[in-house]
Amino acid sequence: MEKVEIQRNGELLLGEFDDVIVVGVDIQNDFCEGGSLAIPDGASIVPKFNGIAKWVKLNNGTVILTRDWHPEKTTHFDQWPVHCVSGSRGAEFTPGIDPGMADLILSKGMGSTEDAYSGFQGRSADNQTLSDVIKQRGSKRVALLICGLATDYCVKSTALDAISNTDGNVEVIAVVDAMKAVSEDTGNIALSQMQQKGIHLVTSADILSEKVLSVHRKVVSPDALVSPEAEDKLEDISYDLDYYKLTMSNFAFEFEPDTEVTLTFHNRGNQRLMDYVGIGNLQSLFDSIQRRGFSHEELSYIRGLRNSRGNNIFSDAYLEYLANTPLPKVNVRYDPEIDDVVIDTAGIWAITSFWETIIMSRVNEMYFQGYMRVI
Ligand SMILES: [Zn+2]
Repeated sequence: MEKVEIQRNGELLLGEFDDVIVVGVDIQNDFCEGGSLAIPDGASIVPKFNGIAKWVKLNNGTVILTRDWHPEKTTHFDQWPVHCVSGSRGAEFTPGIDPGMADLILSKGMGSTEDAYSGFQGRSADNQTLSDVIKQRGSKRVALLICGLATDYCVKSTALDAISNTDGNVEVIAVVDAMKAVSEDTGNIALSQMQQKGIHLVTSADILSEKVLSVHRKVVSPDALVSPEAEDKLEDISYDLDYYKLTMSNFAFEFEPDTEVTLTFHNRGNQRLMDYVGIGNLQSLFDSIQRRGFSHEELSYIRGLRNSRGNNIFSDAYLEYLANTPLPKVNVRYDPEIDDVVIDTAGIWAITSFWETIIMSRVNEMYFQGYMRVI
């Protein structure tokens, strides 16, 4: 298995999935600083894991937490210091991990002779296992993301078990910066063992930027981009056309025909846009608008606009330009620096300027749709 190369500008590395599940392995106090089996910088993965979990929720996926949940006396403690005794402070999830966001919590190592490193050995309060959850997906293509503590023990066991417990429709993906190892050496060995078994090693930024995979949106607001019929309705530019934009574009066409502009959009609100808007959804929306360009109806509407003296405002040459000039490509990407979406586009001013209102209005619309879905 060669090293995974993320194609920055090409096709998705692993393609589109029907469903996504993230497993956060043992992110518990005893495995973090101050705990009885502390992993160096263990708690530092919490924000990375939460970012992934939010993305999974946005994609209507499933968040699963596993926890070591040992009895006070167990042969497991012949090998290890006492840790994660059920109900103790050390067994609690690390601050920042909200158990309420989990669809399922799997407890493991509850027997008096049971080690249970793997999340596949865990059971929920209603006796479900990780295998049950995956089997419920049937033949759907499932992305199984693995994060947590520690890379060289329970994370490794869980990831390797995922390979032996699932069929070809499940891709196992290790999110390497959302996990920590007891030691760097054994951590790296564990990662290469995982890779040899066909587990993909990616970073959380790779996941959030949706360059590795996208998830077919199951429950989508009225913008059901998944259906071509619905996409047709969306591609209307006229929805975003305003008179001011047209006169500005016309001015650029007449007087600055060679001027190029770059438009970059950052979210300046308090909310992280990515918690509400899928990058893949935004990209396909803008691609669909770009593919269509101005429709016949839109061009006739513009042609029909008249000034107070009854003359046409826009010349035939300008209309011809709009009819024959494609809108430039818009790129939607994840910027790890700001931990949010950045949207940019560049091209000749007269045509590129149309994107400004289109992008603003569509992002706002999708934000509110996502917001209504998330809250
Ligand atoms: Zn244990």
